[in-house]
Amino acid sequence: MGEKRRQRQVPEETVRRLSLYLRTLRFLEKKGIRIVSSERLTRHLFITSAQVRKDLAYFGSFGQPGVGYVVANLRSKIEQILGLDQRWDVILVGVGKLGSALLAYPGFRRFGFRIRAAFDNNPAKLGQKIAGVPVMDDRKMEDFIRKNRIKVAIITVPAAAAQEIARRLVKSGVAAILNFAPRYLTIPERIRIKSVDMAAELENLIYYLKEDR
Ligand code: NAD
Repeated sequence: MGEKRRQRQVPEETVRRLSLYLRTLRFLEKKGIRIVSSERLTRHLFITSAQVRKDLAYFGSFGQPGVGYVVANLRSKIEQILGLDQRWDVILVGVGKLGSALLAYPGFRRFGFRIRAAFDNNPAKLGQKIAGVPVMDDRKMEDFIRKNRIKVAIITVPAAAAQEIARRLVKSGVAAILNFAPRYLTIPERIRIKSVDMAAELENLIYYLKEDR
């Protein structure tokens, strides 16, 4: 309980940076590097080594002063903190251009996510499999979520349909949503939501290009 309460106070930015550290650690491990200093860990991340130490301190003490971190140990510890040592079943709603591309991406599996099923309301799309994932009638979505205790969903339906889909997902027990539809979704506060908006990211890049001029 105490542990849980403590972890809840971890800033979101720290959690986000853990994913970045994890990527680097996996890369280093693949290259056969066993020990890494906090300086090396953050070299390409534009994060200071003091920040890494501060981030990790939320979860205990790792590494040895003057020596560094054992790459494999820190990698597995961060996976554990992020919940990636478990396998997460995910569903996707909206098997259009974007949805199909995401289904075909093999990378999710490597990170412990398995897309169990995809849902659509277009009869022409039902019954097919994309990269092994069955495309099912969206009217079966609620049942599937409950039976399989699905907690994570990806929304790739048009903006106009996204709110209603989010409502149905939440009502069936989904607790975290990755939303690609370009609209603000009203959902209960207890639900975690991340919206991905490539256009906004591009705008942000352009702003910095202007600054450079
Ligand atoms: P699309 O039209 O190709 O696909 C949408 C799919 O959703 C279709 O298969 C359609 O049948 C299905 N659908 C519609 N209403 C539904 C409902 N009520 N229940 C179940 N399925 C339903 O569109 P797309 O180009 O793949 O884009 C999908 C979404 O992603 C859009 O909201 C789009 O704006 C967004 N998008 C976001 C980004 C980003 O950067 N975040 C990039 C591209 C597209």
